[in-house]
Amino acid sequence: MTREMSKKQFDITQLVRKNVLGLKPYSSARDEFTDFDQDMIFLDANENPYENGVNRYPDPQQRSLKTILADQKQVSKHNILLGNGSDEVLDLIYRAFCEPEIDNVITLPPTYGMYTVLANINNVEEKKVLLNADFQPDVEGIFNTINENSKILFICSPNNPSGNLIERERILQILERFEGIVVIDEAYIDFTDKESWVRNLNTYPNLIVTQTLSKAYGLAGIRLGVCYASKEIINILNKIKPPYNVNELTQQRALQRVRDKDQIKIEVNTIIEGRTELEKALSQVSFAEKVFRSDANFILTRVDDANKRYDQLIKERIVVRNRSTQPLCENTLRFTVGTKEENDKLIKVLKQLK
Ligand SMILES: *Cc1c(COP(=O)(O)O)cnc(C)c1O
Repeated sequence: MTREMSKKQFDITQLVRKNVLGLKPYSSARDEFTDFDQDMIFLDANENPYENGVNRYPDPQQRSLKTILADQKQVSKHNILLGNGSDEVLDLIYRAFCEPEIDNVITLPPTYGMYTVLANINNVEEKKVLLNADFQPDVEGIFNTINENSKILFICSPNNPSGNLIERERILQILERFEGIVVIDEAYIDFTDKESWVRNLNTYPNLIVTQTLSKAYGLAGIRLGVCYASKEIINILNKIKPPYNVNELTQQRALQRVRDKDQIKIEVNTIIEGRTELEKALSQVSFAEKVFRSDANFILTRVDDANKRYDQLIKERIVVRNRSTQPLCENTLRFTVGTKEENDKLIKVLKQLK
């Protein structure tokens, strides 16, 4: 573990696309004059002057929201970039570092499908290195696959759809040896008692951690993703983000919610209790062959015939996710943990299926 102490040598300018390095961010009216406290007359942005709560452009740097997140996560505001969902953040990372048709990214399937979608949209090659049978990274396989054009490696921990955390030691080996950017997608981090990698930003200048308000925070509908990284990386992403990518209603609603840590904690704890009960109950379902241990708010389960069970559940008006087309996930269904009533109904129905 002492390796964690050695700060990695790293020159970000070597990794960024040349045209991005030279960009100046678009400077909006709200960037140029930011002294909101005073009683000023704003005639700079061609807005409609009649107040309705959202007639003004939003803060392009979301300062209030970043201030509270920085405090909660013990980082500087300059280590944070916010996006229209973490999907936008991931797209910005692709566009900052990957030259289309030249560079490649490394993904570790079975994992979150968006990494592939974004590789395709950005015309960037995706090199896939399957997780092992325990859904852990094959570190040797990864380093045999990486070449001089490998710019980003995506690790999802806890992983979707398998639900497990990625072992700390394996992530360390990757962070130490890989010369490109390591993105750790922590969309489900609040459902584990393990530490976030946000704490390691100072040791690993090639580390990006993404989180989201869509899962534990219960705000999937407002679209807010969070990116934590070195100041240098955040500055680069700021050059290419759309100026008003996080709208005013989202900023207000997110602010309200992140201040209410106690309520979030209560909901997360209830979901974790539900997960434990659901795990137990699923393992008693006659056609459930394996229930995978989860550190997230869903449970992957191998069944006898996933298509058949999926259709039966739909007839009972319960929608789950069939993950069978993903490698290592043949005949699996992914169950999101619901309310107690929803979980009980699911179990009751599963136990009655023939
Ligand atoms: C749900 C999920 C996200 C969330 O994306 P948003 O765009 O923030 O809603 C990100 N990563 C993974 C692995 C997910 O499962």
